[in-house]
Amino acid sequence: MAQRYALMIDPADVADARDDYSDTFTDVDVEAPALSVGEFSTQRGDGVFESIGVIDGHANEVEAHVQRLAHSAQICDLPAPNLEQWRQAVAVAAARIPQGEAVVKLILSRGVEHGPAPTAWVTAAPAADFSAVRRDGVRVVTLDRGYDLGAGERAPWLLLGAKTLSYAVNMAALREAHRRGADDAVFVTREGFVLEAPTASLIIRRGDEFLTPAPSGGILHGTTQLSVYELLESRGFRTTYATLSATDLATADAAWLVSSIRLAVAITAVDGAPLASDPDLTAELNAFLLSPR
Ligand code: PLP
Repeated sequence: MAQRYALMIDPADVADARDDYSDTFTDVDVEAPALSVGEFSTQRGDGVFESIGVIDGHANEVEAHVQRLAHSAQICDLPAPNLEQWRQAVAVAAARIPQGEAVVKLILSRGVEHGPAPTAWVTAAPAADFSAVRRDGVRVVTLDRGYDLGAGERAPWLLLGAKTLSYAVNMAALREAHRRGADDAVFVTREGFVLEAPTASLIIRRGDEFLTPAPSGGILHGTTQLSVYELLESRGFRTTYATLSATDLATADAAWLVSSIRLAVAITAVDGAPLASDPDLTAELNAFLLSPR
């Protein structure tokens, strides 16, 4: 079996300014139990996480990920993470898989009932081989997310902008997409605005303009979407955050789902109708996303 690694973090206070956090990390055996049965992360999905893409031992966009971890923690009223401690933990974990594509996960849990809180750990594991889907793309179906565009602001307890551990709904949406003969899903609001995929951000192309749903609509602000926008802007394209309908997706000149580990995959069909794709641009996006950033 491919090597996997995990280390527990003894969370440092946000005001702790030491240079070296290595003595707050403890390697754990990934095959052995490491969490208390009272863990809120496993009992309630009560915690936040990040998945960082690692290429040949280099973790990409670490700063964007640790900043989003802090943002998610704030939304969930979790103690603010000490970002330097997390940066160092990511570096230690990434170095454990020096070759190929890997994923480093950061998990910050509410902790243990009547016990230590929060609990925090980092894992590293080889990534799945996504080369075929990067080349061939995905067929998506649009799925009702069950709320309107204002839900995130109106009901902050829904934690919509946070990357929480509660991904049961996201996984159920993927299963529904597979039942409908598709590979992936794009969530739409009650009013028919597109949001994001269960594990990726959506970018569409209209002429020389690239558009993505605004993060204020209760979705995650994707680190990969930000990287892709940087590349597109450097190439002279216009990039926009917008309110986009399902029709905007179906009539786009091209569209992609982008995320940290799978990277950029073209959408080749929406609800059974074919969508044009641009294999050269998709390959260029992935070459950029696979380079050290
Ligand atoms: N939206 C959701 C719901 C996600 O789960 C993810 C990634 O897991 C993304 C968007 C893309 O985020 P990133 O590009 O930072 O991986």
